[in-house]
Amino acid sequence: MRSRELSSDGRIWSNDKWTRYAFDIAGACAKMSKDPSTKCGAVIVRSNRTIAATGWNGFPRGVRDDMSLLENRPEKYPRIIHAEMNAILSAREPLDNYTLFVGPMPPCARCAGAIIQAGIKGVGFVAPDRLPEHWEHEMRITADMFHQAGVALGYYGTPESVGWPING
Ligand SMILES: [Zn+2]
Repeated sequence: MRSRELSSDGRIWSNDKWTRYAFDIAGACAKMSKDPSTKCGAVIVRSNRTIAATGWNGFPRGVRDDMSLLENRPEKYPRIIHAEMNAILSAREPLDNYTLFVGPMPPCARCAGAIIQAGIKGVGFVAPDRLPEHWEHEMRITADMFHQAGVALGYYGTPESVGWPING
């Protein structure tokens, strides 16, 4: 599945300086992740374009970032909190009508549910041109839930196009 298909209305978000700024910050957050396979970053932006919260994928605060656990998927998955969820949980204010920017993967279905419940009304994402096969079902659920809940979903580009390292 090409990530472009996730865009609910086929719209690619404008390449304005504020969008680039948001993705620059999300990219800086992604670099903070200790996950050796996928480093994701997210930023939640208020309607006046100031930053409400940031997040990246990782274990909860105080839980040791043992590489032996981070490199072992059955040990990692139950512990890890995704970038979008970390940003939502880090925020200290209501997030109604805010916008979340994330990459280099679109939100999974569980994060999509949290985004909807937090009142966020727009999601911009960067994603690899081709998503891993096992993500296809998940991403269709995300797109369907956002569509039903009235959350605008905008595909912005690939990690390379916004100047992100894929890994490292
Ligand atoms: Zn997620």
